[in-house]
Amino acid sequence: MVNKEKVEEAVRLLLEGIGEDCGREGLKETPSRVARMYEELLCGMEASPKEHLSKTFTAEDNQIVLEKDIVFHSICEHHLMPFFGKIHIAYIPDGKVVGISKLARTVEVFAARLQIQEKLTAQIADAIMENLHPKGVIVMAQAEHMCMTMRGVKKQGSQTVTLVSRGSFEQEESLRTLFLNLVSQK
Ligand code: ZN
Repeated sequence: MVNKEKVEEAVRLLLEGIGEDCGREGLKETPSRVARMYEELLCGMEASPKEHLSKTFTAEDNQIVLEKDIVFHSICEHHLMPFFGKIHIAYIPDGKVVGISKLARTVEVFAARLQIQEKLTAQIADAIMENLHPKGVIVMAQAEHMCMTMRGVKKQGSQTVTLVSRGSFEQEESLRTLFLNLVSQK
């Protein structure tokens, strides 16, 4: 639960720390605005992927299910700066599937927290394994990190790619290859 009073206090201190005048017109409402913003951006801290992944349907055949180009925005826990991009998820059902939109909802639950991309990718894969019990799952994230492109090395548009596979996707290289081919198709 975001303590808005504490966040407001911290933003005031931050503004003072960087030499700003908290009383000037443009900054007057900034502490409360930032506090409300963090409450929204970090709402995934109280959410569970279970509520999205527990309603399943019986699958007739266990073919690959792929949802690609799920847009996400998250906040890097090292710099409190945004990172954002796309996530692709595939799984091989074991008699059960979820509604397609539930995969995007699962991404939202974990993206709306302080994150690192590696952990975000693994948490999505593990949540699908734990709740849906598929034969295998693979999750790929491609993201631009503002802490890299706005500062430091300033590599404009550079992408960080993370890939996590579980179950059959971990065991069978041919499945990973199939996934990568499907993801790269326009
Ligand atoms: Zn960072």
